[in-house]
Amino acid sequence: RLKLEHITRSFAGRTVVDDVSLEVMPGEVTCLLGPSGCGKSTTLRIVAGVEMQDSGCIWVDGELICDTVLRVPPERRSIGLMFQDFALFPHLSVAENVAFGLTGSKADKRARVEELLDRVDMLRLIDAFPHELSGGEQQRVALARAIAPRPSIMLMDEPFSGLDNRLRDGIRDETLSVLKEEGTAVLLVTHEPEEAMRMADRIALMRNGHIVQQGAPYNVFNAPADKEAAAFFSDIN
Ligand code: ATP
Ligand code: MG
Repeated sequence: RLKLEHITRSFAGRTVVDDVSLEVMPGEVTCLLGPSGCGKSTTLRIVAGVEMQDSGCIWVDGELICDTVLRVPPERRSIGLMFQDFALFPHLSVAENVAFGLTGSKADKRARVEELLDRVDMLRLIDAFPHELSGGEQQRVALARAIAPRPSIMLMDEPFSGLDNRLRDGIRDETLSVLKEEGTAVLLVTHEPEEAMRMADRIALMRNGHIVQQGAPYNVFNAPADKEAAAFFSDIN
């Protein structure tokens, strides 16, 4: 379970993330949705711990991981990452990529790797290398790698944007079902309303660093907070 309270960040006097508060429950997907430059990726980087907020707090499973004094390092936050440009290690096999962040005995690691590759339907390519895989196959391995250490939070920044339309729908659905089975709390960034409508349990609509509206997709779509929000959704059919 992830909670952000009043997160604010400025660069050179310009406020890019402005008093953002939101909560993501286990097994649920919250989409941070908004136009290019509104501060989505910066928000995600702050949660991941690779960027620091100026003020506000972050909680994971009831534990404070970051405020203006305390700062738990990224690798100890129980957070998994899937970013568009977050590539597989090219010199490692599929199995080695998925095992990368795992600890424990060799047999335990192997069992977890096989379980996950089976779940994303990639077991038959367990010994392949990334360059031998299609984009969609690489994405599925990346998903298996991200969830292998059982993070309680998954941060996803436009993870499907490199895929063609037909492939994308399948991978989206598969990704969602795996993350729901694992009970992971997902914060997904997208600038596409259609993707948010398809994937989110909750949508947080962001503009100029603010969250202007939060709610179930159906409610946000049917009762946009203002004209600009309505216009943003208007090109969905
Ligand atoms: P997109 O949909 O295009 O990915 P975004 O909502 O993810 O956009 P951010 O990457 O969070 O947007 O950037 C928000 C604003 O903050 C941008 O105007 C960007 O130029 C600025 N910004 C981000 N990081 C820095 C930085 N390290 N230094 C200065 N400005 C930054
Ligand atoms: Mg971005």
